Amino acid sequence: MSSNVSVCVRFRPLSHKERKANGDKVCFKRLDSESFVFKDEREEDVIFSFDKVFYEDVQQSDVYNFLAVPIVSDAINGINGTIITYGQTGAGKTYSMEGPSILHCNEQKTGLVQRVVDELFVCLGSSASMWTVKLSMVEIYLEKVRDLLDLSKDNLQIKESKTQGIYISGATEISILNSSEALENLSQGIANRAVGETQMNLASSRSHCIYIFSVQFGSTSDESWISYAVNQDCLKQVSILAKATTGKIILVDLAGSEKVEKTGAEGRVLDEAKTINKSLSALGNVINALTTGKQNHVPYRDSKLTRILQDSLGGNSRAALLCCCSPSPSNAPESLTKHIKASPKIIPELRLSLKEEDVDLLEELFLQEGIIFDPNSISD
Ligand code: ADP
Ligand code: MG
Repeated sequence: MSSNVSVCVRFRPLSHKERKANGDKVCFKRLDSESFVFKDEREEDVIFSFDKVFYEDVQQSDVYNFLAVPIVSDAINGINGTIITYGQTGAGKTYSMEGPSILHCNEQKTGLVQRVVDELFVCLGSSASMWTVKLSMVEIYLEKVRDLLDLSKDNLQIKESKTQGIYISGATEISILNSSEALENLSQGIANRAVGETQMNLASSRSHCIYIFSVQFGSTSDESWISYAVNQDCLKQVSILAKATTGKIILVDLAGSEKVEKTGAEGRVLDEAKTINKSLSALGNVINALTTGKQNHVPYRDSKLTRILQDSLGGNSRAALLCCCSPSPSNAPESLTKHIKASPKIIPELRLSLKEEDVDLLEELFLQEGIIFDPNSISD
């Protein structure tokens, strides 16, 4: 990994409906845990490589261990971290984040959010005077930031200060002392989201849902804290001479990345599609700038989403993008859409008789690798 942003893919299992339509057929062939071969509509092979590929049989705990464990321990050490799920509606973003239900699911199916919370409180230990954890939950819809812990706050502003870094001004912050308190408030936020959607006649897939855990650890270097820190197993990296640290963990369940234009959308649906597209492109551009080392020109201000993530994606932070995909052949063109162009390293072992839009995509992918792509110059 050349940057602190890792990009992973997760294929969910085929759904019942997909099995009925295509049998067991899937749109990719496994190579290894970092690459797969994607079959396009003409059965041509393209190899895609990522920091990690999670196939259908991968467990929630495997995804958590790879993506989130380092982020949780870093947050306690004052380093911000982000995990983002990306993909078309139905691809497994919310399942990866929340599991089938944040409150009622068995251990095996528990999603990233609950695992992060559980691990966080285990690491922090029981001396609650040594730390503070605060939870905020917001949603971005049509470029407006809405507080999911207080629906009356529906147009929050994003601000920056020397002490707090980037913050959402006026967003409700609830102090949380343990996992069950966290889950209670998280499920309230999720329920509020549903209420807001019903009131406004929205679908959750059209907004970005953002969970923010702000973790303040340690008092100034008083002795009780030092002995406490030394006694906590997972805090081995804490510099016991350091002052109190604050780290944020931000988890983002993005709006669906599907292309709505195809359906001839109008009015609000078209506005939604345009704003989602714009913010996903902004995110792609930011990740692209970070992963290709152009860190002087990271365009954080192009969307509310990237602005909120500014100090949790770049600089001294750690981030993971989980691109969720349906394995179904019928969804393949959407699964490998342009938005994830920023990060995959495409390997030019391909034979080309591609559609025009595929050629555009490849051209962009190659450009990011510093290669000028000429489809006519490549033969069998
Ligand atoms: P999205 O949030 O991307 O729209 P969901 O997470 O709601 O998609 O997933 C769509 C459906 O697929 C849900 O019924 C979900 O339970 C199921 N699903 C998604 N990922 C998995 C997985 N890894 N294992 C089992 N079922 C999954
Ligand atoms: Mg969802």
